[in-house]
Amino acid sequence: MSSRIIPSRTPASDRQSPENSFDRRRFLTALGATAAGFALPRTLRADLDPDWTTPMPPFRIAGNLHYVGSRDLASYLITSPRGHILINTNLVTSPTQIRASIEKLGFTIPQVKIILISHGHYDHCAGSAEFKKLTGAKYLVMDADVSVIESGGKTDFHYASDPTMRFPATKVDRALHDNEQITLGTTVMTAHKTAGHTKGCTTWTMTVAEGRKNLNAVIVGSPNVNTGYKLIDNPQYPQIAADFTRQFQTLQSLPCDIFLGAHGGYFGLIEKFAKKQAGDTTAFVDPTGYKSYIADRQQAFEAELARQQKGHPG
Ligand SMILES: [Zn+2]
Repeated sequence: MSSRIIPSRTPASDRQSPENSFDRRRFLTALGATAAGFALPRTLRADLDPDWTTPMPPFRIAGNLHYVGSRDLASYLITSPRGHILINTNLVTSPTQIRASIEKLGFTIPQVKIILISHGHYDHCAGSAEFKKLTGAKYLVMDADVSVIESGGKTDFHYASDPTMRFPATKVDRALHDNEQITLGTTVMTAHKTAGHTKGCTTWTMTVAEGRKNLNAVIVGSPNVNTGYKLIDNPQYPQIAADFTRQFQTLQSLPCDIFLGAHGGYFGLIEKFAKKQAGDTTAFVDPTGYKSYIADRQQAFEAELARQQKGHPG
């Protein structure tokens, strides 16, 4: 089955950010790195957040949008008669879990035609090399994250010298640009560059047909300022603060019914899944939660920027 990828332009803005918990969890890379053949100290593995690797039942969120990630590292499968799109491959050890989730839902691995990511950090993209081998899918990455992906993290603006942040270098088949649309069968996804957390951080949006309604789904890439990020006078990323500001403008402009993100923690995955299991068919419809989350993260960014402007180091 051939995939059809049609780039196009739509109006929009862009921007995105990091995960609050990222720095705290950065050593969790150890598990994945070990599996990939990167030797890491045993002590790092002890810090691995169990929610990153603990499976949870895969489920249909709405329409053709499915959850196939772990309890915190979110992966999404968007299905179509022309093949499927996978968003986020997670840790280098995650493909086994993601594959099992896809198959449990009744879909097949060779039908995955396109692989996308939220951003170029190992907890969302380290499994991509393995998934490309498994599926033969095309790997499409936002322009400003391509170098990081193809270098296995060695060109990251903040973590370049940190070996615990590395992941298998993976060839990108095509670079995406802000507001580009990807079409596969009847599915259209829009890539919003929401930079700051990484230079090519991407928030994905799509319309999901559920019953008689069309719902706007937003998969937030990351609006978080990681510990140690230098927001001013940063030679590795001079426009970082402007990018974060633009990200929040973009996120505020996106219509959102179904609030999702790169980590389950952004949008209360576990709590909402429990509600869904209890029969609440609209558990993931949460426009208010989306607005609150964005406002909270913007406030955190602005507070950190003000702190650094007073001379405190990043
Ligand atoms: Zn990240």
